Amino acid sequence: MLHVHGLNLTELKQALTELGEKPFRATQILKWVYEKGESSWEKMTDLNKATRELFAEKFSLNSLKHVRSQESSDGETTKFLWELADGKLVESVLIRSGDRRTVCVSSQVGCPARCAFCASGQKGLIRNLTPAEIVEQVYIINRQEKVSNVVFMGMGEPFENYDNVVKAIRLLSSENGMNLSQRRITVSTVGVIEGIRKFTEEGLKVSLVLSLHAPNQHIRKKIIPYARKYELEDILASMIDFSRKTKRDVTYEYTLMAGINDHIVHAEELADLLEGQQCTVNLIPYNPVDGLNLRRPGKEVIEEFFKKLVDRGINTTWRYTKGKDIAAACGQLALLDNIVTL
Ligand code: SF4
Repeated sequence: MLHVHGLNLTELKQALTELGEKPFRATQILKWVYEKGESSWEKMTDLNKATRELFAEKFSLNSLKHVRSQESSDGETTKFLWELADGKLVESVLIRSGDRRTVCVSSQVGCPARCAFCASGQKGLIRNLTPAEIVEQVYIINRQEKVSNVVFMGMGEPFENYDNVVKAIRLLSSENGMNLSQRRITVSTVGVIEGIRKFTEEGLKVSLVLSLHAPNQHIRKKIIPYARKYELEDILASMIDFSRKTKRDVTYEYTLMAGINDHIVHAEELADLLEGQQCTVNLIPYNPVDGLNLRRPGKEVIEEFFKKLVDRGINTTWRYTKGKDIAAACGQLALLDNIVTL
């Protein structure tokens, strides 16, 4: 069965033609889905009953089942748990900040990168999400609250599911789809060089974030086992190239973990590494995850680290973490135990 949320206009026309239907029906269907937010064939009243029944047999409008939502105590963050058709579970997070409604989407079930500080990576990769499964995370939330931004920072390494992620971006930003500006979409990678290089040539206006988390390759390999595949200097070269060719600024995320990467010497080293680059460093104090023996640095340590980067002329932000009480903060989207048993 084909999933409508994973098809662009041309593909949907093609599928309809193969069924002996008029291709113009594709525009009609996409209008129902994206303009009117309809997810039931029954309600598409400008299609006759026989056509609706045929489409219901051949096309799916739902690849995610909502299992539950959890709201943070401050009301600024909601975490959504979805069940996929094969029973696997993934999560998305809606973050409210002023007028902005950002959805953090998952791109894989589990994650191959196995970062030491992250709940999602603890059990490795289970499978890639399809374009429809990615798009629907945004689509369903958008029916509740108008989504303004999308970040690929949930479960998974987007560039290890490259084709499906790029297709999902094109669908989300299509005028026949959710019509979201590409400038409001951000992809975060742990540093898959082939992915960064290919992404540079896609002609998209999407922002790119590197999960850096260390000022040198030695520490980085300990925090991100996956980083052994790539030299840090090569990753940075590909990020600089992305920034130059796409004219998009790049961001480096740096999760501060007590006694691991939070010393003032590390701040100096990080400043040396990024000096002269058009970029932003986003400092994220570590969010505790059950079962992981890592700690968040004290406030003074974070402030000192932050000040050192700023004094060295590095554009630096210190991200206020939302959603901690519902484990929706960065690195906390967990592979629940039942995922592996389902
Ligand atoms: S931080 Fe991101 S890349 Fe690392 S294991 Fe978690 S989901 Fe994967």
